[in-house]
Amino acid sequence: MLNKGRSEEELFTFFAETKNEDLDHDYIFSSMCTIPHSVAVRAHCMFMETNLGDPGLFPGTTALEKLLIKRFGDLFHCPDAGGYATSGGTESNIQALRLAKALRHDVAKPNVIVPASAHFSFKKACDILCLEIRKAPLTTDHRMDADRAAELIDKNTVALVGVAGTTEYGMVDPIADLAKIACQHDLFFHVDAAFGGMVIPFLNRPIPFDFTLRGVTTIAVDPHKMGMSTIPAGCLITRDKEILNTLNIDTPYLTVKQEYTLGGTRPGAPVAAALAVMDYLGVEGMKAVVAGCMKNTERLIAGMETIGIPRAATPDVNVATFVCEERRIPAPWKVSWTCRKHLRIVCMPHVHADRIEAFLRDIGDFNA
Ligand code: PLP
Repeated sequence: MLNKGRSEEELFTFFAETKNEDLDHDYIFSSMCTIPHSVAVRAHCMFMETNLGDPGLFPGTTALEKLLIKRFGDLFHCPDAGGYATSGGTESNIQALRLAKALRHDVAKPNVIVPASAHFSFKKACDILCLEIRKAPLTTDHRMDADRAAELIDKNTVALVGVAGTTEYGMVDPIADLAKIACQHDLFFHVDAAFGGMVIPFLNRPIPFDFTLRGVTTIAVDPHKMGMSTIPAGCLITRDKEILNTLNIDTPYLTVKQEYTLGGTRPGAPVAAALAVMDYLGVEGMKAVVAGCMKNTERLIAGMETIGIPRAATPDVNVATFVCEERRIPAPWKVSWTCRKHLRIVCMPHVHADRIEAFLRDIGDFNA
């Protein structure tokens, strides 16, 4: 720590210079986060000092968290759903598996079945929770092979996981088939919709992935991705309102005597921000945002194919992938690469149509 403090002006000059080193969103084509919506920023600033970890001190902010969970319960066709606001998909996935394990405490060597495409947060979760991770192979269209997943189930399986909107290829696993398998085996079924949860319900033809499917136990959804909230904002939504109480531990010095959350001190600001965006835009507004992102994804795929760069997959959500070598991408565009070395571009709300056209022009010229 500095011995003597710096002047505010000096400090913020330093911050401004340092922030300048960050990439310009105009060129960020690789991220599942985006520039927060203006109402999210306003709400975030309003709730900056609130701590959901001590709800008795912040009953108003706690009511907003409940309202946010209610919004997701309604959106995912389970008005009585439970859940809480997490720091993002990683925490939601950890907590879902922690819950699945706790519900089957009789199993000595528990395992979970995830698709080979699962986000690396499941590796962290299994590591922390001492769970064996079993990866089900994918079919040729990059979706979890439900039959192969079923073959991996044994008496020690405590959870099955499907992904609705995969990180790398933007695919939705066959959630309806997986939900049936979960019912047949009486298994905990977690759907990782960290990305797709704020896309799929707003598509012209929504793909079944939520609590309308009887076998779905929990859903992860991240407002800080397509929900255009401030970071960090995730949610773990549970079909059974009470099920998270299984994780309760005593918290003697707080205003509540027990908690099931992973974090202790939890920010209310991104929760208010997430709710602000949902209530400001409503379903109609979100449909317009998602329609724009999907249109841009389709335009990008068509434009790249015209240049001679074919798609690697036809995505369900706004993640486009291509068969393309790294050397073909000009600076300063920031794209990403999948494990299988495909070019990956996420058409987030900040990736406007004119940015897609600028990228296509640049890549066309660079490779001419
Ligand atoms: N699940 C999916 C499908 C994701 O795409 C991601 C991140 O991109 C995560 C989980 C992890 O989310 P976070 O980085 O917010 O912890």
